[in-house]
Amino acid sequence: MTATSSPEIYAIRYAHHDGRSEAQNFIGGDPHNASAPLDFYVWAIKTAQGTILVDTGFDAAMAKKRSRTVLRPVEEGLKAIGVAPDDVRDVVITHLHYDHAGNHDLFPRARFHLQDCEMAYATGRCMCDAALRVPFEADDVTAMVRKVFADRVSFHDGDGTIAPGVTVHHIGGHSKGLQCVRVETGRGAVVLASDASHLYAHFEQRRVFPIVYDPEAVVAGYDRLKTLAASERHIVPGHDPKVLERYPAPSSALQGWVARLDVERRD
Ligand SMILES: [Zn+2]
Ligand SMILES: [Zn+2]
Repeated sequence: MTATSSPEIYAIRYAHHDGRSEAQNFIGGDPHNASAPLDFYVWAIKTAQGTILVDTGFDAAMAKKRSRTVLRPVEEGLKAIGVAPDDVRDVVITHLHYDHAGNHDLFPRARFHLQDCEMAYATGRCMCDAALRVPFEADDVTAMVRKVFADRVSFHDGDGTIAPGVTVHHIGGHSKGLQCVRVETGRGAVVLASDASHLYAHFEQRRVFPIVYDPEAVVAGYDRLKTLAASERHIVPGHDPKVLERYPAPSSALQGWVARLDVERRD
């Protein structure tokens, strides 16, 4: 990349969960109806100043514990786009759910970016409630606490800047301190929604994923995503298999694994 080129964004699929019912994806969904599988991604933003990773995914041991399937480990996906974990200088953690905040030791040189209220939520009284702590893992949360003590965490409160043209924005609802990432690219502002919208259907139909802290904030978040993105076509949901169909792979060898999000959609 040259110093003046706009960032490149890569969605890297590392895991998959099949056989989901509509009720597992949408509040009010029919448990008898099959629904979309979920793909699990991390996102890499290559800038002139270095690579920013969005979320760290989970490893094979966590996949086994949670009955998910790792297709290609996160580090393999990064290698496929020419990124060594040691070269990652910043990691945005959109929220501390197990599928976004594992692989604790994979990025030894990175600074981690987190919303204040996500850490407060994941270490506070709500975690006394079994239903609210389901998507969290104590090891992920304590690993982040250790990074705080190692001076490796930058906290954000609402909007924050990671690098020129790369910003984070608090969108509560799914988890109390979830943040999305906005990237100014050659095709306009792309918004990595993460779990502010698991599937395209969530923000398009204003439906709510069943793991939720505040449903009102979730639907308000859909409006915020639209405000932040250049258009609805610039919003990238966090778990939708369609992302790999709608955006081109960087090469034929990476088809079905990695997609470029800073270039025009194919549909
Ligand atoms: Zn989540
Ligand atoms: Zn998730």
